[in-house]
Amino acid sequence: MNYISTRNKNIVRTAAQAIVEGIAPDGGLYVPQSFPTLDAKEWEELYAMDYNGRAAYVLSKFLDGYTLEELSDYTQDAYARFYGDDPCPLTALGDGLYVLELWHGPTCAFKDMALTVLPHLLTAGRRKIGAKDKTLILTATSGDTGKAAMEGFKDVDGTDIIVFYPSEGVSDMQRRQMITQAGENVHVCAIDGNFDDAQTAVKSIFTSSEMADKLAKDGYKLSSANSINWGRLAPQIAYYISAYCDLVSSGKIKFGDKVDFCVPTGNFGDILAAYYAMRMGMPVGKLICASNSNKVLTDFFSSGVYDTGRQFYKTVSPSMDILVSSNLERLLFEISGRDDALTAERMAALKSCGKYSISKEELETLRSLFDAGYTDEQGTFDTISEVYGDYGYLVDPHTAVAFGVYNNCKSDRPCVIVSTANPYKFPADVYEAVSGERVSDAYAAADKLCALTGEDIPQPLSNLASKQVRFTGSIAREAIADEVLGYIRGKA
Ligand SMILES: *Cc1c(COP(=O)(O)O)cnc(C)c1O
Repeated sequence: MNYISTRNKNIVRTAAQAIVEGIAPDGGLYVPQSFPTLDAKEWEELYAMDYNGRAAYVLSKFLDGYTLEELSDYTQDAYARFYGDDPCPLTALGDGLYVLELWHGPTCAFKDMALTVLPHLLTAGRRKIGAKDKTLILTATSGDTGKAAMEGFKDVDGTDIIVFYPSEGVSDMQRRQMITQAGENVHVCAIDGNFDDAQTAVKSIFTSSEMADKLAKDGYKLSSANSINWGRLAPQIAYYISAYCDLVSSGKIKFGDKVDFCVPTGNFGDILAAYYAMRMGMPVGKLICASNSNKVLTDFFSSGVYDTGRQFYKTVSPSMDILVSSNLERLLFEISGRDDALTAERMAALKSCGKYSISKEELETLRSLFDAGYTDEQGTFDTISEVYGDYGYLVDPHTAVAFGVYNNCKSDRPCVIVSTANPYKFPADVYEAVSGERVSDAYAAADKLCALTGEDIPQPLSNLASKQVRFTGSIAREAIADEVLGYIRGKA
């Protein structure tokens, strides 16, 4: 199966090419030419597999040119770096409510689910297409992607990685995780502005032929570790399929029963993977798109107008502080009946006027499948405290946003709330929510949270304080191209 650009179906690539390139040359995103489905026998086989097996199998349905054996090696290697027996346990809270914990990886956030696999897909992809250039991974991060991408790519042969994070837009722990990153092929830099500014600056480098030429002279070709890369999305589809398998194999539901999934959403990558799992045949009731105060998606699902002309809020769930949700483009492509010209037109309108709208019919199609809502700042604090009080279960602010929205979108179907970060990534806010006391130092707050709740601080966070700071740079967004070239030339 091949991949096509959402903005021009005549741009066709193999899976390996799509992953190595990251984004299509016209600025579109690669999507599979058709969706593979799972038949009854395949579901039966999946029930019996462990997570690594399920993930490799789901990947094999999408990644022609990669063998199942190769993919099994990759998932085994990737998830061996996770803590505990199960890389993504499904915790039952009772009354048909479940939490899918996606933060047992090396950086304690859900990005690890895909970013531990992507380097394998990319390295193998380069080999498969006979790439001679080195790969330069360029990533904008709202806090979690950057760290997870560097952990995944550090010291991987033939690749370098540069991460840009918004100077004021990430939590203390997130910043600390990034600026202490180890590895000879990594570089981290703060950029003034918010995540959208960083993402726009990075995208502009991807679509600049001048930059491509300059990098080529130094022997580099760009790729992306953001969820615009198909190699990021594909591994995410697997955990939805696997959660459904767990519900069936533990007897909680019968195959065919519909399940709701409530997903804290920023760039629309996580929830889009749920949609793709549904297209593969996973029975879904509703996909619930949960936003924080930056509720551009909530408004879009209610009005059919995507409008970024609004105030940007810095919230306690920084990884969702996004107004331009890149992966929505892939969903628009699907609901428009795969109309590439229309998708291109909408993305052009977004770029020039900051907004676009969809038709009434398209909006109805969307709303038959998606619910959407948001949780504001006070609601996020209240929800952390309520969930801890009701279930004795500690959630981070992103997961709390999803719980808050779930409370308003409840159906009589079982619901899986997707939990995207370990609470200790945001210890000051989580501690304040459960205790009422503000302790602004992240480490002190983590210790107090641990003393109060008895929940262990995960090791990748507990040993951060003693790590040496390596990256202190901060630049204006206009200087991003120079920063990239400076790093490359500094290596030469
Ligand atoms: C990235 C992230 C999200 C948002 O996921 P998207 O795929 O961007 O929608 C939510 N929570 C956490 C903790 C994240 O790191």
